[in-house]
Amino acid sequence: MFDPLAVRAQFPAVQNGSHDDECTVYLDSAATTHKPQIVIDAITHYYSQQNANVHRGSHRLTAKATEQFEQARDTVATFIGATSSKEIVWTRGATEAINLVAQSYARTMLTEGDEIVIGEMEHHANIVPWQIVAEQTGATIVKVPMHPDCTMKVEDYQSAFNANTKIVAIGHVSNVTGTHQPIEQVIALAHDIGAVVLVDGAQAVAHENVDVTALDADFYVFSGHKMFAPTGIGVLYGKQSLLDSMPVWHGGGKMVTKVSFDKTTFNDLPGKFEAGTPNTAGAIALATAIEWLNNLDRAASEAHIKRLQNRAYTKLSTVDDISIIGYQADASVLTFVVDGVHHQDVATLLDQQGIALRAGHHCAHPMMDALGVKGTVRASFAIYNTVEEVDAFVSAVIKALDIL
Ligand code: PMP
Repeated sequence: MFDPLAVRAQFPAVQNGSHDDECTVYLDSAATTHKPQIVIDAITHYYSQQNANVHRGSHRLTAKATEQFEQARDTVATFIGATSSKEIVWTRGATEAINLVAQSYARTMLTEGDEIVIGEMEHHANIVPWQIVAEQTGATIVKVPMHPDCTMKVEDYQSAFNANTKIVAIGHVSNVTGTHQPIEQVIALAHDIGAVVLVDGAQAVAHENVDVTALDADFYVFSGHKMFAPTGIGVLYGKQSLLDSMPVWHGGGKMVTKVSFDKTTFNDLPGKFEAGTPNTAGAIALATAIEWLNNLDRAASEAHIKRLQNRAYTKLSTVDDISIIGYQADASVLTFVVDGVHHQDVATLLDQQGIALRAGHHCAHPMMDALGVKGTVRASFAIYNTVEEVDAFVSAVIKALDIL
């Protein structure tokens, strides 16, 4: 059984409010989620009772840390349906994972005239690394347009594909509107023309079961901090055959088998992509977050989140001067603009009433341009939010409109 209040009680920052004595309604979980006590405890335990470097040294502490670090990798592999833990590379987050693929896979494979297909609603993290590698290789970026209802259509991807298409970069779920992209069909069509697909799962993993093998994704990336784990830890999943074929990226300790001034040889997967001391505590805490999520009734918890989002939508959509942008019934976010008012002014007035949410371009300039707006206000709902918080949010918006 999913008990929202019992789950909420596990999040100290939600209990206390993010600012000492102010009770903040936190509706910014798409930016980063709060952390349950069990995850905070995992970090504290690691640093207070273990703390050793991994994959080096010869004492028991390092052996234990290494074992837990690698177990965490196994946990991630199982969580996303990878066939082997070798397919899981630790990164700092989704952004770093995409840059790794761009600079290792794409940079060596692309040549002039090759095309990278990217949708208009993508986060900057899934655009800029590709622009950089396009500049380096002479490849071209091909934009797939977004529809006015903030959806992406398979047919548009299909028309963008041709014999030159080598890479498709697609988000699983939009951080602005929560739009689900048709990734299954896009992956299948991309494979038909021999292209590889990177899926940005940053906004998906906290909310749905992901099976990278069933999806047949070539690469899938996400960040721990958007799924109840700490910042500074993230994941690149890659098909083993692809990762094996890719050259090393960052150089340093741990990614090598032998260094000499004549010839340096590199580690096998996944170590060859993990130069230097990794975020051991972060990896262990991410595994803790995954185990915590696995113990929830995820269907029920997601239904709770959708109810909250739907309640906010129903109440706000009838308010004069508010335009909801690209509403998606199955999303955990709600994005809107107030006609004639700058999004930051709305957010400031909400902040003054203890409502924390995100206003701005959401790292999606091309999407904002397509919508013809400079920015929007986005409320994002999570497992620990309540109906009362939604109502407080709606009342605060109405009060803000009175002031404006
Ligand atoms: N993709 C999407 C869809 C996101 O929402 C974000 C974070 N806003 C990212 C990528 C980048 O994640 P991170 O900053 O954790 O690397």
